Amino acid sequence: MKKMESEQNFPGRGRSRSRNRCKQCALSIHLCLCNQFELRTIRTKIVLLTHQKELWKTTNSGRLLQLILNDVDLRVRGKRGHALDLADLVDHHGPKLILYPSTDSVPLTPDLIGSEESALLVVPDGTWRQARKVVSRVGALADFQRVHLKSGAPSRYRLRKSEDPSRLCTYEAVARALGVLESVELQREMESLLDLMVERFLWTRGRLRAKDVQGGIPKAALEEHRRKSMRGQKEESDRASF
Ligand SMILES: [Zn+2]
Repeated sequence: MKKMESEQNFPGRGRSRSRNRCKQCALSIHLCLCNQFELRTIRTKIVLLTHQKELWKTTNSGRLLQLILNDVDLRVRGKRGHALDLADLVDHHGPKLILYPSTDSVPLTPDLIGSEESALLVVPDGTWRQARKVVSRVGALADFQRVHLKSGAPSRYRLRKSEDPSRLCTYEAVARALGVLESVELQREMESLLDLMVERFLWTRGRLRAKDVQGGIPKAALEEHRRKSMRGQKEESDRASF
C-alpha cells in the first residue's frame, strides 16, 4: 500500500511518450498550464529566433513565452532552403536591441528606451553556438544594440541537466529583460509560470514528489499516472508468465 502511494506521487519511470501532450506547453493534457495565465499586453515587441531543431523539444522554453505574452514573434531558422529574413525588423521605429552578451554589449537598463517608444527585442533562442551563428550571419542584426542582463539569481530552469545554473533559459532571460523594460510584476508573474511548468515536468520525470509541486498535481493527472503504472505492472506480469 505504501509502495503504491509513493509511486503515485513520484512517477520515476522516464518521460511520458503520451500522444495526449499539449502542443503549446508540451505537458500532458491533464497537466496543461495554457489556460491558467492571462495573456499580458506589453509594449515591447519580442522576436525569438528559434532553430527548427529546438522548436518541438519539450525542454524548449522559448515557446512558453507565447502563452503569457501577446506580442511574441517566433522566427524559425535552420530550415533547408529558407534563409532567415529579418529585413522587416530594420524599419522598426524605436530602439532595436538584441539580447546577446558580448564584448560590445551594454547592460540592459530602462534608459535605453524613451518613455514613448516601444523597444524591439530580438532574442536568439537555443544554444550559445547557434546564437553566435545567427548573429554573425544575419546582416539585418548588425545595427541592433547588443545588450546583456545584469547578473542575478541562478537559473530556476532545471530541465536540461548539463545547463550551467548561471546561464538562463530563453524564457527566464526574456522575463528578466521585461522586468527592466516593462515591470517587475510582469517578471514575477512570468517566473511563476516557469516554476509551475518546471515542477510539473520534474514530477512527470520522477524527479519531484507531487506534494512538492506548487498547487499539487491535478487529480486527473495522478489518476492517469496510476492507470499507466498499473498497465505497466500488468504488462510486466504478462511477460513473466511466458
Ligand atoms: Zn498546454
